[in-house]
Order: sequence, then structure tokens, then C-alpha cells
Amino acid sequence: MTAPIPLHAYDDASGTYKPVAYACGKCKTVAASPAQYIGEDADAAARQSASEHCGPWFCACGKERPTRHDLVCQTCRRAESDKREAERRAGYLAKAKRVPLDEYEGDVFYDEDASEYLTRDEVLDRIAEGEVPGLLFGTTETGFTLDASEIITAEFESGDHHEDASEQLDYGATDALQEALDAWCAEYAAKVITSWPDHSVIVELPTRSEEGDEEGADET
Ligand SMILES: [Zn+2]
Ligand SMILES: [Zn+2]
Repeated sequence: MTAPIPLHAYDDASGTYKPVAYACGKCKTVAASPAQYIGEDADAAARQSASEHCGPWFCACGKERPTRHDLVCQTCRRAESDKREAERRAGYLAKAKRVPLDEYEGDVFYDEDASEYLTRDEVLDRIAEGEVPGLLFGTTETGFTLDASEIITAEFESGDHHEDASEQLDYGATDALQEALDAWCAEYAAKVITSWPDHSVIVELPTRSEEGDEEGADET
């Protein structure tokens, strides 16, 4: 922190010279003006801002902030995002429905800890190998669809048509196109599927003791 350099201008009202801006003491860039701030402390706030222009910048916790524009240091930022993540997770856990693996109807699962999607076979393989996946959620799917009214609207908005052109479309046009699009999607895009985590369903895995009761008995 270097002392800021005040830049004075004559003030008619008081008949004195007053600071109208502060330059950074280090790089000499005009860094702040009291006019940017409101109230009695405007001058002090501008001086403070200019004195911090070239850093170092500090967080409320005492650690250094990476740049002037960061409000907190990296440690506090990480702590804040971990906290949000923990809250998000606690929210799911409290509200989610718990469904045993063999009763879950889908075949794709989301392993929250590893951030990866697993098929039913992969989940079963991992359980068999003793690598039980972490917290496992169900998934929902988005297929590929095309929306007739969006397509028609886009064409009318292309700029190639007169103002009332859409009124000249025959009755039933949207429905007919939708029907054709649905048929096309069913025929050509049925395999285009994207899975998303469904945080409302936690899939319960069989525990190892349930799985291997007999083997366990053999070992002893
Ligand atoms: Zn500076
Ligand atoms: Zn901090």
C-alpha cells in the first residue's frame, strides 16, 4: 500500500483547493474520485481505494486477495463454495425418495461423488468387485425433439416475409408439421438420449453382507 497522490481543483463554493481525485502512489494512474462515492466519507473512501490500486489486497480474514476485483481470498472462496455444495447436498438427501437398486426402473445412474454416469451393469460390476459407487442418484432422460411452432415462428421472423404473412398459413399447419416432426424423430433420432441426474431419487445399493452372506460364511 502506497500513499495516494491527491489531485486538487479550485472549489468556488469554499474558495479553497480540494481533492477531486486520487492517483495511485505507485503507478500514478488516477484511481478514484470522491465523486464516485456518496456521503461524508466519500473523500476517505476514494483515498482508500486509490491507496489500494496496485495492491496488495486483503480479504476480511486477513489473507491476500488475488486481484482488486475479487471480494474474498481463494481460501474463503473455496470455503464458501464447499459450504454451498454441502447445503445443496443436504437438501437432496433430506428430500430424496430412496429406492432399492432392483426396484429402480431406469438403467442409468449418476454417481455424485465421481461425477459420472453408470449403467446398471456397471453398477453391478462395481458392487461385485467391492468398489461400491458413492452416493447414487437416479437419472432422467431428454430425448431429441423438434418443435413445429418454434420452427414456423423462426421462418416468419427471418425477415423474408411481410408483416401479416403468418395469417396466410393454412389451418392446421402447425399440428401437421408437428406430426411429421414427431415421426421423423421417432425414426431417426430415437437413440439421441441425454441423461441428467435426478436428485429426487437416491438409489440404495445392496450392502456387501446382503450380497455375500453365503461366501462370508464360507470364509470363517
Ligand atoms: Zn496503481
Ligand atoms: Zn479470506
